[in-house]
Amino acid sequence: MQNNTNDRFFDPSIPDDMASSIRPRALSDFIGHESLKQNLGVFISGARSRSEAMDHVLLYGPPGLGKTTLAHIVANELGTNFRATAAPMLTKQGDLAAILTSLEPMDVLFIDEIHRLPTAIEEVLYSAMEDFKLDIMLGEGPSAKSVRIDLPPFTLVGATTRTGLLSNPLRDRFGIDLRLSFYSPEDLAKIIQRSANILGTPIDDAGALMLARSARGTPRIANRLLKRARDFAAALGKSEISADTIKTTLFQLHIDESGLDEIDREYMTTIVCHYAGGPVGIENLAAALSEPTDTIEDVIEPYLMQLGFIQRTPRGRVITDAGYKHLGLEK
Ligand code: ADP
Repeated sequence: MQNNTNDRFFDPSIPDDMASSIRPRALSDFIGHESLKQNLGVFISGARSRSEAMDHVLLYGPPGLGKTTLAHIVANELGTNFRATAAPMLTKQGDLAAILTSLEPMDVLFIDEIHRLPTAIEEVLYSAMEDFKLDIMLGEGPSAKSVRIDLPPFTLVGATTRTGLLSNPLRDRFGIDLRLSFYSPEDLAKIIQRSANILGTPIDDAGALMLARSARGTPRIANRLLKRARDFAAALGKSEISADTIKTTLFQLHIDESGLDEIDREYMTTIVCHYAGGPVGIENLAAALSEPTDTIEDVIEPYLMQLGFIQRTPRGRVITDAGYKHLGLEK
């Protein structure tokens, strides 16, 4: 039975306090994405110097690349409260109204998976974002009346893995648009070194780079693999993590030199063996793999596309020559 691939983005073995101590708190601790950090730093100090709420920020990119972390950092650097929710938790206009009316001036409100907001709730957000006003209907039927409530100025930070699913009116209301892309192995190695120091288990440079190359360009996966390598180092009686320990860890976890695991390979072999290399539609693939389409689109495919192993075409998914080669198969 295959594990749900979403699991690889959650590590229950990292207790909350440990996970939060690994999470960078200041912009200077956030590794990589230099120009994004520079710009964000300018926007933060601009807002601070004017004592204004910073413009709303839209963060997008695959899971585990640091969207939540950056939202926390924005609040920390602005010196304001951080309030967080996720779109699937907001089912009624009243849910959002309750959050908005409890904000204090300049607060940062983080809404994760913002592309999942129901339209009726999204519409409440428009005037809240633009004019700091809350327009809600009280009551139902002929006696219903619309009321307008003043809100404190606040900064909305929205995170999404799919900008394509965001409506234009919502997207247009974000003044700052930041895209997080996969990290280079060098930046991931720095993240691994930083986390290893916090966790109190040193890792040598060769080990950090090897681990970084297998972490799918994703800090959350790098941290998770580091924790597993720490377990293997302990099992082998070593106090430091070396490249040899990383090799053992990757081998035991069935992760190959490109960072692909069993579900990635199963995804590619399914297209090759059952659909003659493609094109195949996402629904068929989801059924064949017993995975939700969201997981396939958000978790599995972005990195395979980045490696050039698959293509999304209008007629469906196709394995590329490089994909065949990686599987050791002839086209
Ligand atoms: P997302 O919200 O995009 O899914 P998170 O912000 O939760 O991702 O990041 C996942 C983990 O990866 C965080 O706990 C943090 O420890 C780490 N992380 C992410 N980006 C960075 C970075 N640039 N530098 C250091 N650690 C990072």
